[in-house]
Amino acid sequence: MFYRNSIKLAVRSYSIEASSKVISTLKNPSLFKTSGYINGEWITGNDTIEVHNPASFPDPTSKIADVASLSATDYENAIEAASNAFATFKKTTGRHRSELLLNLYQLMKENQDDLAKLIVLENGKPYADAYGEITYAASFFQWFAEEAPRVAGDIIPSSNGSNRILALRQPIGVCGIITPWNFPAAMITRKLGAAVAAGCTTVIKPASETPLSALALAHLSELAGFPKGVVNVLPSSDAPAAGKLLCEHPKIKKVSFTGSTNVGKVLMGQSSSTLKKLSMELGGNAPFIVFDDADVDKAVDGAIASKFRSSGQTCICANRLFIHESVYDEFSTKFTEKLRKTVKIGYGLEEGITHGPVIHSKSMSKVRQHIDDAVSKGAKVLLGGSKLPEIGENFHELTVLGDVTSDMLISQEETFGPVAPLIKFSSEEEVLQAANTPDVGLAGYFYSTDVSRIFRVAEELEVGMLGANTGAISEAALPFGGVKQSGFGREGSKFGIEDYTIVKGLVLNIA
Ligand code: ADP
Repeated sequence: MFYRNSIKLAVRSYSIEASSKVISTLKNPSLFKTSGYINGEWITGNDTIEVHNPASFPDPTSKIADVASLSATDYENAIEAASNAFATFKKTTGRHRSELLLNLYQLMKENQDDLAKLIVLENGKPYADAYGEITYAASFFQWFAEEAPRVAGDIIPSSNGSNRILALRQPIGVCGIITPWNFPAAMITRKLGAAVAAGCTTVIKPASETPLSALALAHLSELAGFPKGVVNVLPSSDAPAAGKLLCEHPKIKKVSFTGSTNVGKVLMGQSSSTLKKLSMELGGNAPFIVFDDADVDKAVDGAIASKFRSSGQTCICANRLFIHESVYDEFSTKFTEKLRKTVKIGYGLEEGITHGPVIHSKSMSKVRQHIDDAVSKGAKVLLGGSKLPEIGENFHELTVLGDVTSDMLISQEETFGPVAPLIKFSSEEEVLQAANTPDVGLAGYFYSTDVSRIFRVAEELEVGMLGANTGAISEAALPFGGVKQSGFGREGSKFGIEDYTIVKGLVLNIA
């Protein structure tokens, strides 16, 4: 408890700006859209979703917008429009689609400041992180612009000398895209970039917490010259109904989903009626292992980046920090000291803020549940541990817990919040077994200077992505995805486009 109040906090003397005031400062006000986007038209619909700034919620000035919540009929219209657009878009050249994607990449860079502000407002992450998200998000358009002209098939020798076998690679069709709130722009671009590069058209349901970034992207796609119907963005307050419609609709040929494992399972069940092709990027429970031969200072920096990025609200955040007993005290002291010196929690548009709020009360409840459960079973609060109501309802101290054990909830479930549990271990065998216990496997991290161990551990850890001696792995070139119940399919990288194509075999007789 010694450190409890010593994190350098942003003080309550500032007032969090009214959301409307921030919107009025956008350099390009046309990025602020509150209607859905279908077939090149902006659709208001009958219902609305209130979008709030999590930093100031529930203060009345936290309301950013009433965004249109689109109906089942709107979804039907969007699917029809995307289906019609596909008939011609599939025939465009990869080079042409590359140019469209590069236009969109450029437009995102030109509007980076405004796009970052929209993310700060609707998601709460600090401006620097939001600006970084736009760099990351735009990089998928650049990456897939480079991939689009290279989507190629193959010629395969036949066992019949008079035949030639061709593998034609073709776009799969209309794609349903369902995204979460933690990366309001990047989770869309990682899917949309690949879909468009392949020649597919899209119907996108953004998270209801963060539809503004999605609608701004729709506007930019219009400016970039995308034909009508290629990009459709439909916010909905009824996610289960929208998801079901997309999964069961015969004209949707593929659904790509990023979100929780539970929702992923529901969508997979619904998709069975049409045997839809799926990509599922679901929850994780990332191990972060510091071996006895690790560079501890480097591991501390990696742990801070990996655990606390976006206040712990990314699916690849370290969730369980396993520290070898011989470096446990050194690591925990350096880790908490560095956090104490560098962290400044507050409103994301305030200068120097490093960490913002969690998204909403549901997230806060899980953070509290994990801390309270761990402490009740013997964990020690080494740093933080408390809510920060003096800043706002959704703010919580970055928290480090020591002496965490496997019977605590925090070892078993993804926290998705700013809590780092430190777990002591004594052997490689023991830590690998513990790291692989969960039924999910998205990301993992480990620190070691022993090359043999690096290969051994990398091959043993049951995850889809690994950082060895680094806590920052995300970039467009990385094949992104999980194993076990973290899902399947890979996004980004040279593999990302495959999920949006089909291979058609053609046997040509030349006798
Ligand atoms: P999170 O806990 O990160 O919000 P979810 O899996 O609940 O993760 O949400 C991710 C995305 O899935 C969001 O766009 C959300 O609106 C949507 N969603 C939530 N529940 C369902 C559902 N039953 N069917 C389809 N989509 C859903």
